[in-house]
Amino acid sequence: MPALEAAALFFDVDGTLLEIKPEPDAVFCDDDLRALLARLLMRCQGAVALVSGRRLDDVDRIFSPLKLTTVGLHGAEMRDVGGAERRADPRNMDHARQAVRGFVAAHDGLMLEDKGATLAVHYRRRPELGAMTLAFLLRFGPGDDLAVQEGKFVVELKPARYDKGAAIAALMGSPPFKDRRPVFFGDDLTDETGFAVVNGLGGLSVRIGDPEARTQARFVLSDCASLRAMLWRRLREALP
Ligand SMILES: [Mg+2]
Repeated sequence: MPALEAAALFFDVDGTLLEIKPEPDAVFCDDDLRALLARLLMRCQGAVALVSGRRLDDVDRIFSPLKLTTVGLHGAEMRDVGGAERRADPRNMDHARQAVRGFVAAHDGLMLEDKGATLAVHYRRRPELGAMTLAFLLRFGPGDDLAVQEGKFVVELKPARYDKGAAIAALMGSPPFKDRRPVFFGDDLTDETGFAVVNGLGGLSVRIGDPEARTQARFVLSDCASLRAMLWRRLREALP
C-alpha cells in the first residue's frame, strides 16, 4: 500500500468497513471506526471517500456526524468534496417499479427495497429464488437504460450509466484525490468495476473476504476486522 500521504482511499461500506447484518437498518458506525476515518481523513488530506450501494442519506445516518465524500446507489448518487450533491431521478425507474413490485409480491420471502433511483430485490430468506429473481430483472436492460447489479443475496436494478468504477474515476479527476494513488477496498460484485478502475490507474484493489473468490482485486483481506487493524497499523507506523 502506498504511504497514506500519497494515497486516495475509497471504501465500500457493508461487508468492508462494517459487518453485514441481516437487517440493513441495524448497521451503524461505532466509535472506533469513526475515529479511524477521522484520522485517515487528516493523514490523506481529505482524500477519503465512501462508495456504497446505499442511498446517500442512509450512509450519512450510519456515519453521523461525519459527512464524508460519498458515492451512493452504486454511483447514481454522489456528494463531492465540496459538498455538492448529485442524485439520479427516481422517475427513471417508474416503468419498472410496478412490474418489480408485482414480482416480489408474488413470491413469498422476497423483499423489495425501493431506493428511489434503484430497486433492490433481496432473496436472503429464500436463496433458491435467486436465479429466478435475476432472470426476471434481466428482462429490463440497455433498451430501458437500466442495468442489473448482482450482490450477496440481492439483485438490483439501476441506471445503466452509473457504476462504482466510473464514480471513483470521476472523483480521481479533481483534488484532493487527483495525483494520488487510489486504493479501493470492497467485498462484493458491485465493487468489481471499482477494482478494475483503480488497477487501470496504477492503484491498489483490495477485496475483503474469501481468498478463493474470483475477482479483479489484486489483494485480499479476510474480514472487516483485518482491514481496520491494518489501517490502524498504518496510521501508527508512520508516526515520527
Ligand atoms: Mg459491500
